[in-house]
Amino acid sequence: MTIDEDARVRLSAASSTAQIPQPWTLPRQPAALTLLKYTGVGLASSLFVLLLIKVGAVVAVDPRNWWLVLTALLVGYLGADLLSGTVHWFCDSFFSERTPLLGPIVIQPFREHHTHPQRILHYRFIDQDTTNFFLMTPLLGWALYAQAPHSGHHGQLVACSALLGLCTGSFLTNLFHKWAHSRRPPKLARLLQQCGLILSPGRHSVHHRDHSRGFCVTSGWLNPTLDAIRFFPTAERLIRRLLPR
Ligand SMILES: [Zn+2]
Ligand SMILES: [Zn+2]
Repeated sequence: MTIDEDARVRLSAASSTAQIPQPWTLPRQPAALTLLKYTGVGLASSLFVLLLIKVGAVVAVDPRNWWLVLTALLVGYLGADLLSGTVHWFCDSFFSERTPLLGPIVIQPFREHHTHPQRILHYRFIDQDTTNFFLMTPLLGWALYAQAPHSGHHGQLVACSALLGLCTGSFLTNLFHKWAHSRRPPKLARLLQQCGLILSPGRHSVHHRDHSRGFCVTSGWLNPTLDAIRFFPTAERLIRRLLPR
């Protein structure tokens, strides 16, 4: 059994015992909210494809730009990993499920994931995984309107490519996280996990063994470095020192 297979079984087994004591029903969201989410995902995806075409057109005109685009895409994708870790750390560390408004909507899903890791697999993509589409839409709109890349404008090309990398990671973060918990992820997901391009069960099991480590859930590339320098625990200590007691 490989390290990832072993972690996949352990992540799955730990949650199945946690699920037994209390019956649980999947929360249903209102149909109007589902419709709004489909609209948001459709709009963000359309803007993403338009920007991708524009960046592709610049590279087609001057193929020497491909390395610039690839580097910026990777930096953007790394940014998505850092963003996922920062949001995850914040929601694990501050406030509680009982905090008005923020608690039930934002904090609760993160805390529930620690006690019932496998529940994440039961949610539909449209119910659980669309927040980042809404957050990225203004950025994509701005990039298309004000930063549309042109041949010879390297700054715009880098910014637009980095945004595409950031959006790719952000749009798919929750899906990658789900696949790390799944015993039978799609073949493509398994391949991407084995290549190390997306979060693998092995990388993610670090967080479920110790909730103060391994916060990044897009690719998990940043986890070893951030854990080694104790980035998030140090940030938490500093913030708590600044907060009134
Ligand atoms: Zn967590
Ligand atoms: Zn998890």
